[in-house]
Amino acid sequence: MPFELPELPYHYDALEPFIDAQTMEIHHDKHHQGYVDKLNKALENYPDLREKSVEGLLTDLNSVPDNIRMAVRNNGGGHFNHSLFWKVMAPPARQSSVDKGGEPEGELSKELEKEFGSFEELKKQFSNAAATLFGSGWTWLVRDSSNKFLVITTPNQDSPISQGQTPILGLDVWEHAYYLKYQNRRGEYIEAWWNLVNWDQVESNFSS
Ligand code: MN
Repeated sequence: MPFELPELPYHYDALEPFIDAQTMEIHHDKHHQGYVDKLNKALENYPDLREKSVEGLLTDLNSVPDNIRMAVRNNGGGHFNHSLFWKVMAPPARQSSVDKGGEPEGELSKELEKEFGSFEELKKQFSNAAATLFGSGWTWLVRDSSNKFLVITTPNQDSPISQGQTPILGLDVWEHAYYLKYQNRRGEYIEAWWNLVNWDQVESNFSS
């Protein structure tokens, strides 16, 4: 099978106390695995599409046949989005900038200040978008085709790369991402999550 579940870059309990081990285990081993399995199933009879990368599929959904397009959009999106999500988080103690309050540094920091005025303002816009997103979906910091930074949300497992945007940072706000620990308190999950952002990885997403 062409697509495989990537390993988590840390242990299930590494993001405690902000995200609990049981949530991480179910989220990665069951939910993400499910997207990978369903993507592979959808592509079973399409050897030419199985040669493509998940990015290749998602950036050209029109080339995917009608009867499997929605399955590829949902499950390919789920695979791509979660693969990014695991990487933009890190155990709090391992964040390079943790002693500075967990903020972006260097070139990224300068560019974000230019766009949003301050990191606090970006954080506010991003958190607000995440808190008010109706139903299941994602909140993103992306760059558009003219390299402008935007805070956006996508419904379901839709991925920014399908609309020509490059995700730099993403937050999963499906209930499966937080319900065991936070139940209906999505705002608390969002606030806690900022303690986990792996700015080194975000910086690397930004510069590549
Ligand atoms: Mn998820």
